[in-house]
Amino acid sequence: MGEHSKLHERHKAVMPAWLGLYYNDPIEIASGQGCRVTDAEGNEYIDFFAGILTNMLGYSIPEVNAAMKEQIDAGVLHSSTLYLIRQQIELAERIAKLSEIPDAKVFFVNSGSEANEAALLMATQKRASNQILALRNSYHGRSFGTMGVTGNRGWSASSLTPVNTRYVHSGYRLRSPFKDYSDEAFIAACVDDLRDVIATQTAGDVAAMIAEPIQGVGGFATPPDGFFKAFKEVLDESGILFISDEVQTGWGRTGEHFWGIQAHDIVPDAMTFAKGLGNGVAIGGVVGKPEFMDSISALSISTFGGNPLATAAARATLDYVTDHDLQSHAHKIGSYLFDGVRRIADEVPGIIDVRGRGLMLGIELGDPGDLRPDTELAGQILEATRERGLLVGKGGLYGNVIRMAPPLTLSEDEAKDGLAILADAVTAVSARKS
Ligand code: PMP
Repeated sequence: MGEHSKLHERHKAVMPAWLGLYYNDPIEIASGQGCRVTDAEGNEYIDFFAGILTNMLGYSIPEVNAAMKEQIDAGVLHSSTLYLIRQQIELAERIAKLSEIPDAKVFFVNSGSEANEAALLMATQKRASNQILALRNSYHGRSFGTMGVTGNRGWSASSLTPVNTRYVHSGYRLRSPFKDYSDEAFIAACVDDLRDVIATQTAGDVAAMIAEPIQGVGGFATPPDGFFKAFKEVLDESGILFISDEVQTGWGRTGEHFWGIQAHDIVPDAMTFAKGLGNGVAIGGVVGKPEFMDSISALSISTFGGNPLATAAARATLDYVTDHDLQSHAHKIGSYLFDGVRRIADEVPGIIDVRGRGLMLGIELGDPGDLRPDTELAGQILEATRERGLLVGKGGLYGNVIRMAPPLTLSEDEAKDGLAILADAVTAVSARKS
């Protein structure tokens, strides 16, 4: 047995069984440069999944490496929030300003799950209720509380949760009972559902709604613009708080906006973030209105939250995003990718939906007649793209959505090469099938 196969066996022996890996023969990434990674066996890939949207600038970014190295060389890797940490405060000030939430405050943690956990704690404390509204097909994390607001049961191992959640219709239009409606009628039907759920399934003291502007794990399900504005009008009638989970949609990835929720022209009470901010280094947080952020009275500490190394990486990453206007770049390259994927979809009947915004692009596979999800085809495309040198993601309620979310630095040439691989892989797999 080769070294690589042995490593896979060791993984299986020491990790819990549910910790699944991509690919029949899982990849060990050995190095990365820009938007490309090389595995331990020397195969090179264009990376259209960027970790899981974690490496938003790509790999080996000199500015980020230098910022971290400076911190390491200074010898200050303590990570206690008991002292002033200059770069943490500066990062918080920048994120507060970027949030466009008036007088915003920021609390740093280490992951998206923790960020949502903190936001849920604040909202439930503020409203003295643990009743939450979430969307069907949502994903908000793998912790005890966040699983309780995760509508995608495939990703929620426990039904025992500290929150009391009701789920409402999401913007996952393809499988919505309102799928054939116009945008306006679709939004109106979802708002009716929201009103109905609040009126008939809650005690009238809902604390908050938590929602992803574009559902990430749920297969990049994208509601029409204005969807959440209509929701918020209903929530405001009863003082229900709104938390936008920007873990996947933040930092300009959606192209037209810096935060996903801005496509809906509302200011949320809080936003949660993680993934891309540290370009691979663990950092997450909550940014919100002061009255939201100050709603917990007990002193609460995150030992590693906002530590000097993570905040140094995050600051350098954020500088890069704004200095290079990666939001506009995501818009431009995203449109190019979208058009390319649409052209491929026109030739392949098994592609039943292409959706997303900016550099978040979902391709749903299924039966063009009855829309039956084709999970097998998605798995085959995943393998076939890998064989040809492209890494993509998988997702959706049925695991039948190919997800593309490359680094925001993706060049047009890389987009073109990736599209060519995708077209070739999809054609080969579809030919095998028919
Ligand atoms: N929210 C969203 C929208 C996510 O996509 C994820 C991760 N996939 C999380 C929260 C949880 O983040 P983490 O894995 O960093 O805990």
